[in-house]
Amino acid sequence: MQRFQQYIDGKFEDGNASFPSVDPATGEVWAQMPEAGAEDVNRAVASAKRAFVSAEWSALTATQRGKLLYKLADLVQQYAQDLAVLETRDTGKIIRETSAQIAYVAEYYRYYAGIADKIEGTHLPIDKPDMEVWLRREPLGVIAAVVPWNSQLFLSAVKLGPALAAGCTVVLKASEDAPSPMLKFAELVHEAGFPAGVVNIITGFGQTCGQVLTQHPDIAHIAFTGGPETAKHIVRNSAENLASTSLELGGKSPFIVFDDVDIESAVNAQISGIFAATGQSCVAGSRLIIARGIKDRFLARLKEKAEQINIGSPDDMATEVGPLCTLAQRERINQIVQDSIDKGAKLLTGGSNIEGNGFYYPPTILDCSDVQDAPSVTNELFGPVLSVICFDTEEEAIALANNTQFGLACGVFTQNLSRAHRMIKAIRSGIVWVNTYRVVSPIAPFGGHGLSGHGREGGLDAVLDYTAVKAVWMRTSDDPIPDPFVMR
Ligand code: NAD
Repeated sequence: MQRFQQYIDGKFEDGNASFPSVDPATGEVWAQMPEAGAEDVNRAVASAKRAFVSAEWSALTATQRGKLLYKLADLVQQYAQDLAVLETRDTGKIIRETSAQIAYVAEYYRYYAGIADKIEGTHLPIDKPDMEVWLRREPLGVIAAVVPWNSQLFLSAVKLGPALAAGCTVVLKASEDAPSPMLKFAELVHEAGFPAGVVNIITGFGQTCGQVLTQHPDIAHIAFTGGPETAKHIVRNSAENLASTSLELGGKSPFIVFDDVDIESAVNAQISGIFAATGQSCVAGSRLIIARGIKDRFLARLKEKAEQINIGSPDDMATEVGPLCTLAQRERINQIVQDSIDKGAKLLTGGSNIEGNGFYYPPTILDCSDVQDAPSVTNELFGPVLSVICFDTEEEAIALANNTQFGLACGVFTQNLSRAHRMIKAIRSGIVWVNTYRVVSPIAPFGGHGLSGHGREGGLDAVLDYTAVKAVWMRTSDDPIPDPFVMR
């Protein structure tokens, strides 16, 4: 059985306790993970705090920080396949996706490597004589990065990249459900040559490790990705240290199809939008909002294609849908599907657990046109389940799309340019994809509204979340300071 180590203060250690990690494809324990308790968390934060002011880190020029990030990017690229194999083993995410995604993660580090020496201050045209005033952009301090189990290397890169570019130090808590790729990644951080304590990588459970970390008095900012209920805990925890937060949460994203589309092309986008990553994607297009005129034709083709999906072992390059990450997640998804059917949703395909070892669930389509408040329509399932609702008018499509507390992503499929522009404006979401879906880049910001969270990751501005502005006032007159009781 493999054993993984945590990474604190530039050293790899076993930790005082460990816990088993389960292979979702077989349901068997395959590795032991180090469990960080309060003492480990405190040591990791203390190490990051020391590193923040250490000469080895704080005296580096921004260009030198960028070079370390370029080195890390090269290492991620070099070891992408090893990392992908681990992520697939631990999460059940198919190897086709982990290989492609992790190779691209290197580009996120390159993007922020290039930004490190472009974080500029400003000179102010101040309204006082004999004064020079300028703003310095300084690194915020110690960052707590907390990530969910899915796409951890990617979700870490959008936190570590800008945080390190800005000059912060980080304690990253990997998900207890599948920490192995992050613990392996720690070796690359070490090899890249970051000074001890600049990046610490630990794992453990939310209520213990996560809570101690996010409440810690020395944390300046919490960069969190996960579910909305956990985010509420995080925000409560941050009441202890008043850390700022960026929250990337779940979604119930509408995938809106008008009757003028190329059906084959839109069906392919919908298949990828909901069944890629076995539906375990925050931007999953899990609500199909379809024009009544093409509904029957569209659903017939969608069902046909969904039933052709190759379900299998996640480490097989031919597999298109693998297992869910945890047994508990499969039970929850199945329950919501059954409750929706009981409420009147029509099951078009899938809809029950796949027998055998492993946490498999088939691509499932529910027609909820007559039960728009079915639990599958209102809840984020985080699994391969599509709920369908149809509309007659553009206004109705907008109202349906916005009828959610989430606001992460949206897909609009139409050939009508004017309508596309109206939809872009009317939909409340952080991302709108027009005639495409599920495309990301380090250059484009990513994030949502409402229960989907706040703050944006990716893009230039994300780096500002990791900086604080310092206003510097300098008097330039040699004259003695006059009357001390008049404010100038
Ligand atoms: P989760 O919310 O259960 O856990 C996320 C992380 O929070 C884990 O590391 C967990 O240990 C930690 N945590 C749990 N309780 C905590 C506490 N009280 N204090 C501090 N930390 C705590 O999420 P999950 O099930 O691992 O992942 C699925 C969720 O993540 C879905 O809702 C999905 O939409 C969301 N997600 C969002 C994005 C995005 O970018 N918007 C990306 C991927 C996943």
